[in-house]
Amino acid sequence: MPSQSTLTWIVILLLVLIIVLLSLCLYFDIRVITTPIFSTTKAPVSSAPPLTTAPDSETKPSVTTAIPPVTQAKPPVTTKVPVTTKVPVTTKAPVTQAPPVTTKPSTPVTTPTPDPDAPTVCIDPGHGFGDPGALGTLNGKTYYESDINLEIAMKLKDALLALGYNVVMTHDGKTLPADKYLSESSPKFNVNNRCQLIKDNKSKIDLVVSVHCNTASSSSVKGSRYYILKYGYTGYNAKSETLADNLIDAVFAAFDLASKPLRYAENLAVLKSGIPSVLVECGFMTNSSDLTNLLSQWWQTKYVTALANGIDAYCKANIQ
Ligand SMILES: [Zn+2]
Repeated sequence: MPSQSTLTWIVILLLVLIIVLLSLCLYFDIRVITTPIFSTTKAPVSSAPPLTTAPDSETKPSVTTAIPPVTQAKPPVTTKVPVTTKVPVTTKAPVTQAPPVTTKPSTPVTTPTPDPDAPTVCIDPGHGFGDPGALGTLNGKTYYESDINLEIAMKLKDALLALGYNVVMTHDGKTLPADKYLSESSPKFNVNNRCQLIKDNKSKIDLVVSVHCNTASSSSVKGSRYYILKYGYTGYNAKSETLADNLIDAVFAAFDLASKPLRYAENLAVLKSGIPSVLVECGFMTNSSDLTNLLSQWWQTKYVTALANGIDAYCKANIQ
């Protein structure tokens, strides 16, 4: 019997203990449950989509900011709920701001996408790769024609791309075209192998503009000249003169022109591909006024805009 009463007491004690434990558990459970519910509901409400997409692209920038919230996430479990909610809010701000930064630069880069059916202009920056071309001196400093040609040619490329044309460069001054254009007799990329490059791509190219700067024995000779192949020579194309006329008209609308800007050449290899071709001598390296212009970014842009307008006028009237 005593054992029965002892058992009863034990049972009562156990029941009391269970009740106390249950009430304690209930008390703590409610607090523990409210914390995650509070933070998880808040998180998805304000940022469920950004949280799934943003971290993928933004892992690196948010590495430093992501660490503090992770370490602060523990305290709220004990008591401080509002602290956890505030931290994610600050983390979300940079995460959502960052993706537009990555999308913004990609948009302008892809903007000038030329139509594959648009005409293709081949631009040939004269000289380069060890061949400086003509030299000019201004205020005691010597300038190379090849450098100026390349600057103007690259600006022309951009202007034509902006107008929706396709552009092929014979070179960009940095990389040599394929080795097949170099031979034992022409170990460097020169006028012969760049002409071969033009001929090999003849089916894709609608017109050729070779960019050069001129020299003269007299320093008073100045102005732009536009060379086309003389009638009757191999590779002559009658459209070359039309192209040159369009260039001259467009440049004349922007600048004063020297007399007789159109010239006929007999032996300029770059004009002999059979494609409508003009060799533009932008100005004289030996004339200080011309050389000042040739070195001016403002002048280069104005000149190139005129050339691009002339090419545009030619293509609209002569190429479907
Ligand atoms: Zn030249």
